[in-house]
Amino acid sequence: MDYEAVIGLEVHAQLLTESKIFCGCATRFGAPPNTQVCPVCLGMPGTLPVLNRRAVEFALKMALATHCRVAPESVFARKNYFYPDLPKGYQISQYERPLAEHGYLDIQVNGTSRRIGITRIHLEEDAGKLIHSDTRPVSFVDFNRTGVPLIEIVSEPELRTPEEAVAYLQGLRNILLYLGICDGNLEEGSLRCDANISLRPVGETAFGTKVEIKNMNSFRFLRQALEYEIRRQRALLLEGREILQETRLWDAAKGQTFSMRGKEEAHDYRYFPDPDLVPLKVSDAWLEDIRRSLPELPAARTRRFMEEYGLPEYDAGVLTADKALADYFEAVLATFPRPKQVSNWIMAEVLRELKKEEAGIASLKVAPRDLGRLLALVEEGAISGKMAKMVFEDMVTSGRDPETIIRERGLTQISDAGALEAQAREILAAHPKEVADYRAGKTKVLGFFVGQLMKRTKGQANPQLANEIFRKLLAD
Ligand code: ADP
Ligand code: ZN
Ligand code: MG
Repeated sequence: MDYEAVIGLEVHAQLLTESKIFCGCATRFGAPPNTQVCPVCLGMPGTLPVLNRRAVEFALKMALATHCRVAPESVFARKNYFYPDLPKGYQISQYERPLAEHGYLDIQVNGTSRRIGITRIHLEEDAGKLIHSDTRPVSFVDFNRTGVPLIEIVSEPELRTPEEAVAYLQGLRNILLYLGICDGNLEEGSLRCDANISLRPVGETAFGTKVEIKNMNSFRFLRQALEYEIRRQRALLLEGREILQETRLWDAAKGQTFSMRGKEEAHDYRYFPDPDLVPLKVSDAWLEDIRRSLPELPAARTRRFMEEYGLPEYDAGVLTADKALADYFEAVLATFPRPKQVSNWIMAEVLRELKKEEAGIASLKVAPRDLGRLLALVEEGAISGKMAKMVFEDMVTSGRDPETIIRERGLTQISDAGALEAQAREILAAHPKEVADYRAGKTKVLGFFVGQLMKRTKGQANPQLANEIFRKLLAD
């Protein structure tokens, strides 16, 4: 019997507003503990929340960018539970009447496109942060994060593989970055993801019992946790055992998930509308303003890269799937306006380099202008493509500009036909047997002659020109 996975993600994104969602406290990351707090976010009795308009605008941007239907009126609710990082004893969230519903995100995996439904997007406030002492059995609490605005983006259970789940999360992150409303940092927790996963026999339409996995703070951990969970659930089902509905945590060190709490211990949050907040009304005019203010989004940029630069869909998709990479590409074009050549170079050399370092384009030492210059030097025939790769390696480690590297390492290409021809004649004179072979039809020896010329010029002869010269001399 074979099984297929059913996966749905719940993604939380911290919004990049300057102040918190219901008070004026700053949201700056990394400030000393409990320095960005006030009676409102500390949950003092008698205080009242006031909704941050900018947070709503950011959430609406995401809702529009993911094709959601925005509710003209949505309602904030209290989600009640006790935890030391939650001073009020409840979190203000949206429950029965969320801000937006029925959206979607298109993802690409292995060359096929799939549309993943977005169930809802709602606004809520973040909780504080507990810091556990390594040396003593005590914990500290930092309320700076309490009340930082979040959006929660809930997907339909329409993802089928760990790769699709990763592509979906990457797609959401990319849109958040294009919109400039979240910094997308999974490691620091400004973007968080809980994964729900169940298995069912292939062909079955009903869902199996799901498990929720928390605590994955990178794309790699998300993939690994889902892969682990598929193996675990599959083994249980094959033994005829039941899957327990539970919340599990990913242990990166062990490469396993483990049970945190079962269904019995699940919270009953006793949601009810927050009496301190009026319903949130979004007028058509406000929504239209926001729609007009949306920047170019990944899908539109992909189309533009195809139309304006004549790139194949594949190139355009890879480049725009990362805003910083697409920006880099366009910055190189400003110096060297040959889109396909620039794209080839980025897709091969630049991405290989980034993969090696597991880094983003932001950490690449090569300025776009310098890469443009390098490609122009190849185009002008000053250096060969092979030399360019050497120069690029140097640029990556040293951050120096290509001209300096070429000068210092004496890498210039000899494209002077006269100088090359004189040496070519000498080579032919010194190898009468090979010349005879060539004339007898063994044209492959041409490579030998070019090789000799390369050796003499320490690789600096323009290979194309060298070929032409030998061909011409041998035809005489
Ligand atoms: P809960 O009531 O436990 O919060 P929801 O129905 O609200 O569950 O769904 C939460 C997330 O779990 C959503 O992303 C949804 O797509 C996903 N999900 C729901 N049922 C399943 C299932 N059987 N298998 C996998 N994922 C599921
Ligand atoms: Zn405050
Ligand atoms: Mg739910």
